[in-house]
Parts: sequence; C-alpha cells; structure tokens
Amino acid sequence: MQDIINNLSKLAKDKYNDNKKFFAKLKKKPPKNLDYVMQELHEEEFKRTDCLECANCCKTTGPLFTDKDIERIAKSFKLKPQQFIEQYLRIDEDNDYVLQSVPCVFLGADNYCSIYDVRPKACREFPHTDRKKFQQISNLTLKNVAICPAAFNIVEEMKKRIKV
Ligand code: SF4
Ligand code: SF4
Repeated sequence: MQDIINNLSKLAKDKYNDNKKFFAKLKKKPPKNLDYVMQELHEEEFKRTDCLECANCCKTTGPLFTDKDIERIAKSFKLKPQQFIEQYLRIDEDNDYVLQSVPCVFLGADNYCSIYDVRPKACREFPHTDRKKFQQISNLTLKNVAICPAAFNIVEEMKKRIKV
C-alpha cells in the first residue's frame, strides 16, 4: 500500500488531463444510472481497500470541522466548543475551521482514529465517491485522486464503465 501512496501524486498528475476531460463530458450529460454505478464502484473498491492500511487522508489533508462537528467532538472531550477550537483548530483561507497541523492529531500510530465515533462529517464521507450526483463534485475529485488510492481506482474504473 505504501508504494502506491508514494506514487499516487505522480500517477494522478499523469491522469489529470484525461480525468478533467472525462468529468467535463460527464457533467454535460450524466448517465441516468450514475448514482447506482457510483454506489457499486464505491462498494467494490472498499471491499479491496483497507483504510487502516492507508490513512493517507488523515496524514496529509484533514477535514473541515462544521459547528455541529465541533460541538459533538468538544462534548466527547468534556470541553466547551471554544476550548476545543483553541486547542486543536485554526481558521483557513476560506474561513473554515481546520486542523492546526497534519497528520491529524487524532490519528494513532496504528492508523486508528481516536475520535472515530464522533469524527467530523467530512471524515465519514471522504472520499465522497458514493455521493449522489457525483458529477457535481468533479473538481474536488480531481484533487482527491492524488490523495486517496481508492478514489484514484474508482475514477479509473468509472472511465472504463461509463461511456461519455
Ligand atoms: S479514504 Fe482513501 S486516503 Fe483515506 S484511508 Fe481510505 S483509502 Fe486511504
Ligand atoms: S478525525 Fe479521525 S478520521 Fe478524521 S482526519 Fe483525524 S484521524 Fe482521520
């Protein structure tokens, strides 16, 4: 897995133009069964890929924290939201709350998340490959294929299965 992760940024760069063209066409005329196909591709990929052998998203990017995320996680630490923010978060250039640093402070050496049950919504949903109307998040996906080996494989499989 580590070999794949090490090469992912280059692999994604090589595929960037291809992927961009594919998503531009997909956006213009998404197939009627796109949600169904994505669900299938997502499930197939995550049967093969074990996030515990990877954790590259937690190591390199980290999520946005919504107000609800902050309230829920702070409560689990018995902290006030403001105390949690001061201890763990910063505001980024888009005015969103993000981690002060990566790898995520809640990631263990064994790749387990120490706040798994209350983790941010963005962590639960990453890499968003089972999202409905997937064509609408193509810009995000173009970035995610360079971080997430599963997203990379799913997009490669999409290009084979969906004729645009
Ligand atoms: S979601 Fe993707 S990047 Fe994150 S741990 Fe799973 S395979 Fe790795
Ligand atoms: S909160 Fe948990 S799932 Fe989210 S980035 Fe940190 S370690 Fe990963």
